[in-house]
Amino acid sequence: MSYRFDEMLKSLKLKATPKRLAVLALLAAEEGYVSPEDIRCKLQGEFARLGLPTVYRILDELAAGGIITKIIHPNRQLYYYFCGNTEHHHHFICLSCRRVEDLDGCGLHGMDGEIAAKTGGKVLSHILQVNGLCRDCAEEAA
Ligand SMILES: [Zn+2]
Ligand SMILES: [Zn+2]
Ligand SMILES: [Zn+2]
Repeated sequence: MSYRFDEMLKSLKLKATPKRLAVLALLAAEEGYVSPEDIRCKLQGEFARLGLPTVYRILDELAAGGIITKIIHPNRQLYYYFCGNTEHHHHFICLSCRRVEDLDGCGLHGMDGEIAAKTGGKVLSHILQVNGLCRDCAEEAA
């Protein structure tokens, strides 16, 4: 599957700078979630002066636009993940090998309605991330 990263950035009203394009391409090529430090390391050959603050800023822009997903890890390190699935869905993440799997369907829309009814308010969005061990890692741990 190939992506038009320049179009994605355009849809967020972000200029398709070489650095933004490189960060997006790198994330899309990774199977699992990656840390800002990983990204800086891997792009150092291409951009000798790429600083961590710049990487953080780019990741923040992309996550705010919904193109990439922020992964909250219990180790308190921040990670990011690119998923090509644009449907509303959630992720199962392996805490050990960083693999990410799409969860089919949502299952939370009913709860949104209940919460709206209970609070008298209006639910606008929700976040769900399921943490665990993937099949391989669970077998290894057993
Ligand atoms: Zn795993
Ligand atoms: Zn996904
Ligand atoms: Zn959902």
